Amino acid sequence: MKRVFRAASLIQVAHARNVLLSAGIHSELRNQYLAGALGDLPMLETWPQLYVDDEDEQVALRALARAAAAPTGVSWTCAHCGEVLEPQFTQCWRCGSTVSDKH
Ligand SMILES: [Zn+2]
Repeated sequence: MKRVFRAASLIQVAHARNVLLSAGIHSELRNQYLAGALGDLPMLETWPQLYVDDEDEQVALRALARAAAAPTGVSWTCAHCGEVLEPQFTQCWRCGSTVSDKH
C-alpha cells in the first residue's frame, strides 16, 4: 500500500477519497480515529491518511492533482484565512471572504 494523501481535516481526506472513488480507485482510510489519541506520535503521523494499492499510486496521485487544479466542483481554500471550503459555498464561513477572493 502507498500513502497518496493526508490532511489534518477528515473532511479534506473524505473529499480526496471521493475523488479517488470517482476515478475508480479503492482507497483505505487510516488514522480516522487516531488523532489526539497518541500524544507521543509526530503530528503528521496522526493525521487521517489515504492508502492505495501500489499499482494504483500514480493514477491516484494524478486524479488528486487534477481535482486540486479543477476550477469548479472541488473544495477551495480561502485566500484570506486558509480555511478549506466545499464548492457549494461561495463565502468563507470563518472570515466572510467571498469565493471571488479565491486564488
Ligand atoms: Zn476565510
